[in-house]
Amino acid sequence: MAPGGESLPGPGLKGTRVVLAVGSNQGNRLGHLRRAAAELQDLPLTSVLKTSSVYESAAVGPGRQGPYLNAAILIKTALRPLSLLVELKRVEARSGRRPGPRWGPRPLDLDIISFGRRRVSNRLLQVPHPLARRRPFVAAPVGELAGTARTGTADPRKTRSAVVPKTASAQVSRPCSATTTRS
Ligand code: ATP
Ligand code: CA
Ligand code: CA
Repeated sequence: MAPGGESLPGPGLKGTRVVLAVGSNQGNRLGHLRRAAAELQDLPLTSVLKTSSVYESAAVGPGRQGPYLNAAILIKTALRPLSLLVELKRVEARSGRRPGPRWGPRPLDLDIISFGRRRVSNRLLQVPHPLARRRPFVAAPVGELAGTARTGTADPRKTRSAVVPKTASAQVSRPCSATTTRS
């Protein structure tokens, strides 16, 4: 997925702006992120509006795991929150993800970070995502999408890493180019 890549919403699509976090630490990580963005664009009543840069970070989870590539994707959708969650789970499954331990390694993870201004709290879905703000590997790309990353420097690495809280900076190793990253 190209940093800052955009596609226009379909004609007349009414919907809600939804921020998604996408991550991968198994297989062709960048390929999984790109494919996820393409599949989101193909979901019913849904358009991808914007994608963040891709960030690399150490895994936070049980056991030894490889590092993650993470990004944020802004979509517009007329799906309801639970219908969107079902679709996201299907996209994850098509990446080869199988049921496993929470925070275990996975080829693709798609989380709903926010769904317009809606609040959802039930057994299946919590929105806004309760842990998003505390996770620099989510906050950094989401901040970039929202335009809250600090600007004023010509060095994009510096700009992007500035959104990572100092206390947690060890968890996000670096933003990396979507086109040159190992995967
Ligand atoms: P975390 O949510 O802490 O990042 P995880 O992504 O590893 O953990 P999963 O195993 O992918 O967790 O998902 C477990 C369940 O979380 C899903 O089946 C889904 O029902 C539920 N869930 C609750 N809120 C959300 C949300 N905002 N986005 C995606 N899944 C959610
Ligand atoms: Ca997650
Ligand atoms: Ca998840």
